[in-house]
Amino acid sequence: MNYKGHLTVGLITAVGCFLFVKSILNYEFAGTELFILLAIGISFPLLADIDHRLSIIVKYFLIGSALSVSLGYLFSTDFLIYGIILLDITVICACFMPHRGPTHSIQASLLSPLLLYPILGWKWHPLYLCAFAVYWSHLWADGIPFKTTMKGAVKKGDKK
Ligand SMILES: [Zn+2]
Repeated sequence: MNYKGHLTVGLITAVGCFLFVKSILNYEFAGTELFILLAIGISFPLLADIDHRLSIIVKYFLIGSALSVSLGYLFSTDFLIYGIILLDITVICACFMPHRGPTHSIQASLLSPLLLYPILGWKWHPLYLCAFAVYWSHLWADGIPFKTTMKGAVKKGDKK
């Protein structure tokens, strides 16, 4: 499935999460939380493909790290550090991980909500559940929803 397909599935999952959290968990998202949910719906379905050199998320992360390093050079060393960390992670995953390897696993899906830790902190929040579900939608769309191995699983004819 290409990135547009993953994005569509991810956004539908995010809407499903919104409805689930609102009606089943009886939690009303505040304005900022809705914005975070939208950001999750746009970014998390694409994150797993950081292990593919030609994926859209790798391009965005390379552009983002270049911007961050430039801002760091001009304004603050914090941006410089974030930019270098993002660049390192992106290059390592894109160049050295097999496609559909560790990032395409249940373990990665379960760990992905930790990316929200700097925003949400160390307490339960429904957005953690949404982040897991949206990241996992990528595995589901790739046809490997319960993959636990770290090995790559390349299917013939698949494009990013
Ligand atoms: Zn994938």
